[in-house]
Amino acid sequence: MVFKSIFPYTLETIAAYEVMSKATVEQYLNNSAKAFKHWRRTTFAQRSALMERVADILIARRDEYAALITNEMGKVLKESKAEVEKCAACCRYYAANAEAFLKDIPQPSDAANSYVTFEPTGAILAIMPWNFPFWQVFRFAAPYIMAGNVALLKHAPNVCGTALAIERIFTEAGFPEGVFQTLIIDTDVVEDIINHDIVQGITLTGSELAGSSVGALAGKAIKKSVLELGGSDAVIVLEDADMQKAAQVATMSRMQNAGQSCIAAKRFITVGKAGDAFAHAVQQEISQLKQGDPFNAATTTGPMARADLAAKLDQQFRTSITKGAHLVTGGHVSGCNFTPALLTNVQEGMPAFDEEIFGPVASIIQASTEAQAIQLANDSRYGLAAAVWSADIQKAEALAKEVEAGAVFINALVKSDTRYPFGGIKKSGYGRELSYFGIHEFMNIKTIYIG
Ligand code: NDP
Repeated sequence: MVFKSIFPYTLETIAAYEVMSKATVEQYLNNSAKAFKHWRRTTFAQRSALMERVADILIARRDEYAALITNEMGKVLKESKAEVEKCAACCRYYAANAEAFLKDIPQPSDAANSYVTFEPTGAILAIMPWNFPFWQVFRFAAPYIMAGNVALLKHAPNVCGTALAIERIFTEAGFPEGVFQTLIIDTDVVEDIINHDIVQGITLTGSELAGSSVGALAGKAIKKSVLELGGSDAVIVLEDADMQKAAQVATMSRMQNAGQSCIAAKRFITVGKAGDAFAHAVQQEISQLKQGDPFNAATTTGPMARADLAAKLDQQFRTSITKGAHLVTGGHVSGCNFTPALLTNVQEGMPAFDEEIFGPVASIIQASTEAQAIQLANDSRYGLAAAVWSADIQKAEALAKEVEAGAVFINALVKSDTRYPFGGIKKSGYGRELSYFGIHEFMNIKTIYIG
């Protein structure tokens, strides 16, 4: 069996990768076990030096990796370059901060001395998607490896070239064999891997369905999991908002990466009189986008990553129109290419409201009051992030606290950042990545009590 890498813009096959045999997978798991014995005892200084080298390689070969990303999943080259740079920054952040994040915490008690110490637990299996094929990997690998764990990656089958390139980066940086390994595997061997003793944690980014299957397997094996699943993030635009800025940022959030981001703004909810002005401004923004070849510098919106994803989006889009959404612009589909679209009059009961829309379709929903806007924002199975736009910061902060989500950004683009925890509630998953919080997810939080 082979996995194919296909350039989504033309649907041309660019490479094929053989799936690993069970014996090879077993060998990799044994490598992880061997590596963990030594890696867990290395100092933070030793780990930091190697992680800094990973960052150096990423920066030195940024253009090569960016081209690989664009070839395999179609995002515009400029965005691929920015993604590689963000990975390097993530490596440097944890190289600099891991030791402080994981230092012992005194816990005064009835003991002569008592404190909490953090110990690594083993190999962490990461099941990752194709939408940010470098970033999704580095944001788990940098903290967990700095913490003394070892990493196993099962990447999405359409980005095997990227998955193997990342493994080579860790090897070239000088990491011992087995600290970071890429498995080229189908999902049918995932249960055996989760059951293996060396695997002590599972992190998955992807769909709700994948999260619920893998979360169940982890639960059955009594192993901790972190799930970063979908979202249907609301952008709430109040009447006093800076309409141009709100429209510009919301459109960018929705359309970058051809709309394939978990934290993209997916439901634009306007309050009262904001409706018409905001819709007009968004339409202007969308009219400036150019869908096409992701290697062309003039292109703003590349193809979607796979033809089946574009077909699914098309179905959600057409059903929403049948149910009463107004099509303002866009929505032409050919293979993986989907032109940026705007729907207005979107309401509950339409896929554009109820489901995750993972592509370049913006939806505008009108609310009469701020209270109704909050109700609409929360009337979602997801709870990843949201944005509020208003000139009145106090009011915006009060509304932010009412939104059911893992993060709310006020008058700003929702983005993941190594310095802040990232993750959701409800069907968006559980656990947190990044920052101080992310690095603790797969640690043994150990109490030491001296009587
Ligand atoms: P999936 O969730 O199916 O894939 C993501 C990763 O999970 C892949 O590596 C996939 O491998 C793996 N996976 C899926 N099911 C299982 C399983 N039962 N056991 C083990 N691993 C599994 O996403 P798709 O690529 O099919 O995209 C479908 C939709 O998911 C999108 O339209 C979007 O709505 C959502 N999505 C959300 C993402 C996010 O960032 N939150 C990222 C990607 C998708 P394999 O492909 O081999 O099954």
